[in-house]
Amino acid sequence: MLAVHENAGSPSVELDRTVFYPVGGGQAGDTGRIGRWRVVDTRRSGESVLHFIEPGASLSAGEKLRLELDWERRHRLMRLHTALHLLCAVVKAPVTGGRIADDKAHLDFDIEMEKLVKETIEARLNELLGRNIPTSSYWITDAELDSRPELVRTMSVAPPRGEGRVRLLEIPGVDLQACGGTHVRNTSEIGRLALARIRSEGKRNKRVTLTLAQPETE
Ligand SMILES: [Zn+2]
Repeated sequence: MLAVHENAGSPSVELDRTVFYPVGGGQAGDTGRIGRWRVVDTRRSGESVLHFIEPGASLSAGEKLRLELDWERRHRLMRLHTALHLLCAVVKAPVTGGRIADDKAHLDFDIEMEKLVKETIEARLNELLGRNIPTSSYWITDAELDSRPELVRTMSVAPPRGEGRVRLLEIPGVDLQACGGTHVRNTSEIGRLALARIRSEGKRNKRVTLTLAQPETE
């Protein structure tokens, strides 16, 4: 461990390395455990990743600690995050925003309401899932990204720059875009998707919300 920060009753821990994903790109931060203490959120602060632990935890810098990710929750986040890439491909419209929680995820589109048909979108998504498509990621330079603006799909979420390179997530034949989030390796891992809701959130924001469908109830 590198450091323990005390901020107004919510201590946070900085580590020399971590498997925890901090809030970013619309995706919620990871939870889990550090040693016997519960991690309630993970956030980036400048160059470092802060693991927020339950109040009352006593940890000291230099301690060696075992990290345990709440993997079931993280896997749901990865499945829903990857599902949003599919949704991006199914709905042909500019993306104005998005968010991924562990029970649902949404994208906002700049599109007319009448073009969003629940049954059609849901069927198309599940058809893509049924094709068991492997996902892959690779890096390109900032300069290459600048020359290919079509790789930035979400207007409100700028790809993480500053390292001189940006990661792309590719679902071959379906979607290719800059993304620093966490994804599953194959669309089959997502299971089945349900389109929970389509709602207008303003002139340029039509929100499409997805949830993971329970296969046993299908
Ligand atoms: Zn992504």
